[in-house]
Amino acid sequence: MNLYIDFDGVILDTIPLLDRILLERNIDLKDEYKKREVYARLDWEKIVNETPQINDSIKHIDRLRKSNKFNIAILTHVNSMQEAIAKINYLEKELPDITKIIVPKEISKAKMLETKNAILVDDYGVNLDEWSKEGGISIKFSTKVDKVYKYKSISKLDQLLDLF
Ligand SMILES: [Mg+2]
Repeated sequence: MNLYIDFDGVILDTIPLLDRILLERNIDLKDEYKKREVYARLDWEKIVNETPQINDSIKHIDRLRKSNKFNIAILTHVNSMQEAIAKINYLEKELPDITKIIVPKEISKAKMLETKNAILVDDYGVNLDEWSKEGGISIKFSTKVDKVYKYKSISKLDQLLDLF
């Protein structure tokens, strides 16, 4: 089974840091265009190396890999080539045997891959909606375990072993 795992907000806890940067610069968090402009100029090498993992994500992905249940790829949106390089460098160091796919932020993840019977684990509802619309299986990642979501949700990646 093909399994695609998002990066920001699933593997690394980059979202609170990014939101803080946007707020410091008085950027409206709903202004996607302005957000992308800011993201494109950030030092992503520093961000990925200073941001903590979420719930031991790397260890959990290794566990998923060893289960042989899934063909795993990391699927991440990027706003700049520098961001892409920083993320690939990080993942190559932490998970050398796993496929990494970068998608320009302007393009839907669901348009880049065959979605049928493929799982997407993502923290961002829009990505999950697009994925299921194209026939894929959407799994919400959230550390808020008491919340109810539109899709099946997990807070630790190895919970996928119980779901599939
Ligand atoms: Mg995300």
